[in-house]
Parts: sequence; C-alpha cells; structure tokens
Amino acid sequence: MSTDSESQDPAERKSAIVTRHEQAAEEVLPGHRELFIGGEWVSSASGETFETTDPTTGETLAEVQAGGEADVDRAVEAAWNAYEGTYSGLSTAERQAMLESIADTVDEYSEEFARLESLDNGKPISEARIDMALVADHFRYFAGIARAHEGRTVETDDSRHVQTLREPYGVVGQIIPWNFPLLMAAWKLGPALAAGNTVVLKPAEETPLTVLKLMELTEDVIPDGVVNVVTGFGPEAGAPLAEHPDIRKLAFTGSTEIGREVMKGAADNITDLTLELGGKSPLVVFPDADLERAVETTITAIFFNTGECCCAGSRLFVHEDVKDDFLDELAAAAEELTVDDPLLEATDLGPKVTAEQVERTMSYIEEAEQAGAAFVTGGSQPDDEALSDGCFVAPTLIEDIDHDSRAVQEEIFGPVQEVFTWSDYDEMIELANDVDYGLAAGVLTEDLTKAHQAVRDIEAGNVWVNTYNDFPAGQPFGGYKQSGMGRETAQEAVEHYTQTKTANISLR
Ligand code: ADP
Repeated sequence: MSTDSESQDPAERKSAIVTRHEQAAEEVLPGHRELFIGGEWVSSASGETFETTDPTTGETLAEVQAGGEADVDRAVEAAWNAYEGTYSGLSTAERQAMLESIADTVDEYSEEFARLESLDNGKPISEARIDMALVADHFRYFAGIARAHEGRTVETDDSRHVQTLREPYGVVGQIIPWNFPLLMAAWKLGPALAAGNTVVLKPAEETPLTVLKLMELTEDVIPDGVVNVVTGFGPEAGAPLAEHPDIRKLAFTGSTEIGREVMKGAADNITDLTLELGGKSPLVVFPDADLERAVETTITAIFFNTGECCCAGSRLFVHEDVKDDFLDELAAAAEELTVDDPLLEATDLGPKVTAEQVERTMSYIEEAEQAGAAFVTGGSQPDDEALSDGCFVAPTLIEDIDHDSRAVQEEIFGPVQEVFTWSDYDEMIELANDVDYGLAAGVLTEDLTKAHQAVRDIEAGNVWVNTYNDFPAGQPFGGYKQSGMGRETAQEAVEHYTQTKTANISLR
C-alpha cells in the first residue's frame, strides 16, 4: 500500500487534508439543507436536525433536517397534489425534456457534484467522476424511455378488442443507500419520473448532500412537488414512508436486513415493491484466464468504491494451477493501491463512510483472524498518522478461511476479499452458490464455452465475463435469492413503475 505524498511529514499532510476539505466544502456544499417538499425548503416538523460527517477528517460537514412521520405525510400529500395538479397532465415529450434538463444540470455541475460526493461519502474523486457521468447518462436513458414505453393489443377473436394501458402508480416512495448516493437516486428517479409518477425520496442519513444539491439546481426544471426529499434516519423517516397508505409503490436499496423490514412495512397496504439488497458475489478465475487482465479485473471487483458495492466480487475462486502466480500478482497490485485523501487525484481507496462501518469491517477481519485465517495482504487500518482521524481500512485479502464462516457468508461491505482455491468445476460452482445472496458474479476466462457454462450455472442476477462493475444504462441490474427483486437501470425498471390496466371492449 502506498500513499499519495509519502515524502511529506504526516502532520503536515494531515493539516493539508483538513484545509483541502474545508475549502472544498465552502465551494460545493448546497446552500439549502432543509427538507424539499412541494417545491419549498422547509424545516422538519419536530425542529430536529442532525450532522453529516466528513469520513476523511471526522469533521462535521453540514447540519441537515431530521425528518419524521409528519414530514413524510406532508411530502406524500405534496406529491399527490403535484401528480393530480400538474404531472399527470404532462406529455411524454415534456417528461423527456425534463429528464434531459436534469441530465444537463448534472453535466454542467459534475465536478462540484463529484467533490461533494467525495466529501460526504469518502469515495475517491476519480470514482466520484465516474458516478456523475453515469448519473447524467441514466437520466438521459430514461428520458428516451419516457417516449418509448407502450401498451399492447391482445388478439382473441373478432368479438372484442382487448388492449393494455401502462399507467403510473401516482406517488412512489424511494429509500436509497449511502454507497452511491446520487447514482442510486438517478437509478430510482429516472424510471419513476419517466413512467409519470411523482416521488418522495429519502436519502441515507450518512450522505444526504448531493441529492439536496440536485434539488437546489433543478428547482426551475422539475415542477413543484414532483420530487420531494425527506432527509432523516431509517426508523424515523424511512419506516413511515414504507408504511404509508398513500404510497402506491416502493423502491428500496440497502441491506437485506432492512429490506426485510421495508417489505413488512409495505405488507399492510400491499404496496408494490422493488428491492435491491446485499450481495456476496463470487469471482471465478479459470486456469486459462489472461493473468494481467484477471488481476486488474479482480482489483476493480473488490476495491472499487473502497469495497462499498453491493455487487463487490468479495469471494475469489482461483484455479489451483494458477493460484500461486495469480495471488502473488494480486497481492502486489493491492499493495500498490494508494490509500489517501479521496480528494487527491491519485487516490484509489478513500475512507469508509463512517466510523461505525469501519468497526463492522474490522470485526469481520478480527473474527477471521481468530479463527486461524491468513492475510495475503492487509488486515488492519493503515499505519499512516495523516489518516488517523479518518475511517480508513487497508485493502485486505484473506485465505485459509472456512466457507461457512460469518466473514464469508455475510456482506462485509469493505475492501476485503476471501480467497479460495478450486480444481473441480462442479464443486467450485456449488461453493460459489452456497450463500443466501445472488446479486452478481464474475468469470475470468478466455474460453467462450466455459464462460457461457459458468454464466448459466451461477445463481446471480448479473454475471460479468472478463469485466466487473460495468454499468451501462439499459443493462438490467438486480438480484436472485435474498439479493432482492425487480430490476433497475433498464427498460424493465420503467415497467416496475407502471401498472397494467386491461380494457376489454365488446365489438358485438
Ligand atoms: P446500510 O446497512 O448499508 O447502512 P441500510 O439498509 O441500513 O444500509 O440503509 C439503507 C437505507 O435504508 C437508508 O436510507 C436508511 O436510512 C434506510 N433505513 C434504515 N432503516 C430503515 C427502516 N427501518 N425502514 C425504512 N428505511 C430504513
């Protein structure tokens, strides 16, 4: 592991980081940090607020409103007023134009959004820029789909005319996580608005700022009340949204544990639901894989976004014939990664989002160590005084670990990968599928037949071959098993935000 500016004194580097972050915050923080309801910036009904923290420095970034049930009620009412008063009357061309304008705004301010995301979440600036390009592109993709979704005519006989209409739900609720704050908002807002719904959205309490900034910059583009944002904590603001009788459809991205709670909340009102939940994805290296490319892909699979990806390739299965060479190269590449201030261009891994998340990751690492597992590399927080106030964890590769152990079966959501060796294909597939999750997988081979076979054998909603974490708009994303239900980022996401009405017209 290396740092960006090793030649400098750690105390000087630490103070340079604080100064850089204070200056960036001054330049990019949104002016408004209130709730955004019915096109107005308002305080929470309770008057309560909370602080969002910069995970690099540990300093407070901003104070935002702690929304609660009364605020959710207000937001749902505003969303229905906007649906009935304006939005349901907009043509598909007008919805398309609105979504394109949102994309233009993201492009125009992309550097500010990227820096803000980096401050609030801790992700490296180079990766935050990738997020922002995807945010704009997903809004553009759904702008196109707004014009392209259609009902059907059903042929029976000449006694009747049967057709289907795809109608919006009205008001939808969306609860999003902290790992890709603005991108997850785009994945959800895009299809919901394209389909003609209005929205109440709750960002994660750890990272509410980029969504607020988006609302601030698109106030003139999105009609009042069409998108409402209630910041706040899960039980106080998320649960009332999930349980709200006037929410007709819910979309949630987060942990499987909370997904279950959201599903229970939705059950009382039989609210339609899509869930994108946790993962513990296998990444399989075949003996014929191109070594250099396979190492590069493995690094992306587990260390992109500091491992805070629900689809991270966190269980590596390397064929025994190439294991020694592959692991040597992989460990060397992991040790070359720069762990440092996320605002620096050269940084590969920033801090985790909160101290609580560091604790969680370290508890899995410690448990694995106590059970006798070995570290190929990492296994601790970085030994760098300049980063000591931040939530950093070193890139970690673990071997000699039991596949049934907690660290392997549960989602760590950090830069930690467990390594297994395989020789028999069927046994490897059995192990690869031996988790509750089924979100994603990776296959590294030059042999097309083996690749196709593995794609079919692995239980996952997304299988990447010789690539990983690649998210072009239009490619459906979602999970098998306890990784969720429904698909995002594609045309079928728009289907999830509409309901089918059948008209049967007698011709006799
Ligand atoms: P993580 O474990 O990665 O922090 P969570 O699943 O806890 O992710 O959180 C994802 C989102 O769900 C956040 O916006 C959070 O506030 C929200 N949330 C947490 N608890 C609840 C709940 N009981 N009901 C609804 N939303 C919740």
